[in-house]
Amino acid sequence: MDFGKIAGMESESRQEGNRKFPCTGGNGRRPGKRPGSLLVCRLWVQALWTALSNGYAAGFLKGRIYMGATKSACAPGLNCYSCPGALFACPIGALQAVISSRQFTFSCYIFGFLMVFGSLFGRLACGWLCPFGLVQELLYKLPLMKKKRRLPGERYLRRAKYGILAVFVLILPAVVVNVAGIGSPWFCKYICPSGTLMGGIPLLLANPGLRAAAGILFSWKAFVLIAVVVLSVRLPRPFCRYVCPLGAAYGLFNPVSMFRFRVDADKCISCGQCRRACPMDIKVFENPNSMECIRCGACIEACPTKAIGASFIMAGACKKKNGAAVRGS
Ligand code: SF4
Ligand code: SF4
Repeated sequence: MDFGKIAGMESESRQEGNRKFPCTGGNGRRPGKRPGSLLVCRLWVQALWTALSNGYAAGFLKGRIYMGATKSACAPGLNCYSCPGALFACPIGALQAVISSRQFTFSCYIFGFLMVFGSLFGRLACGWLCPFGLVQELLYKLPLMKKKRRLPGERYLRRAKYGILAVFVLILPAVVVNVAGIGSPWFCKYICPSGTLMGGIPLLLANPGLRAAAGILFSWKAFVLIAVVVLSVRLPRPFCRYVCPLGAAYGLFNPVSMFRFRVDADKCISCGQCRRACPMDIKVFENPNSMECIRCGACIEACPTKAIGASFIMAGACKKKNGAAVRGS
C-alpha cells in the first residue's frame, strides 16, 4: 500500500485551505517540511506495529490462538486476544477477564498498565498503535460515499464510550455472574467489532468446527462490525469517537499526561486549519489536550503558523514560553 500517495491526497486538500494565509509562503506548506510526512510516518508505524503484534502466522493457517509467554502481557491498543496471530493480550479484554474471574492480583497489573501508559502518553496509542484505528483510517480514505465531519448529537454520542467503559467493561462482568460466581466479558462478547474482524472472522474461516457452531451471537457481532465499517467510510474514526472503552480510559489522562500539546497564543491566528485537519474534530486552538485527542499530529502539520507544539512536560509546569502566552501547558 502506498502510504505516501494516501498522505499526499490528504495534504492537497489541506493546502487548498492554507492558500489564504500569506504566512505559508503562498504554497500552503510549512517551511522546511514535506507535507504529510508525519502522516506517512504514522501510517507506517501503525502498519508495522499491527503486523508485529499479530505476527503468529501459523495461527491463521491452523485456526488456533497463540498461547505463548508474551500472551500474558498487554499491547497498548485494542488488539483482540482471539486474533489467531496476536502475540499479546488486549487491555480491555484482559480487564474484563480478571474482573469476571476475580483474579484481583492480575487486575492490578491491568489497571497499572492503563494508568502508567495513560499518564505518560494519554491517548497516543489510539493514534499510533491501535490496529482497529488503522482499519478505520484506511476505510475513511476510500473514495466512496459523501464524507461527514460529525453526526447530529455528536456531543452526546461521544459520551457513550464512557458509559460503555463503566457498564460493559467494569460493572456487568463483575455483577452478572453464573452459579460458579464467574461473569462474562460483556464488551468483547456483545460489542467489540475489532474482535469480530481480527478474532471471530479469521477463526471461523480457518476452523470448520467453529464455523458450524457460529450462531445468533456471531450474526449480531457481524452486524455491529458492518455498521462500524460503513460508518467509517463516511466519518473519521467513529468507533474511537463514540464506542471504544480503551480510548475512553486513555482519554481521561490526556489533560494531565506528560506528553502534551501546547498552542502559542501569540502565533495562533484562529484560522481553524487545525480543527479542519483533525480526525476527531477538536478545536485544538481552544483545548490542545482534549480527552478526545488521539495525538495523531495532523493539527501540527496543518497549522500555517507553527503555533502547535508537542513535548514531554508535567501539566502546569510551564505557563509561559519566552514570554509568550501558551495554551495547554
Ligand atoms: S493553532 Fe489552529 S487556529 Fe491557531 S493558527 Fe494554528 S491552525 Fe490556525
Ligand atoms: S487535536 Fe491534533 S493530534 Fe489530536 S486528534 Fe486532532 S489532529 Fe490529531
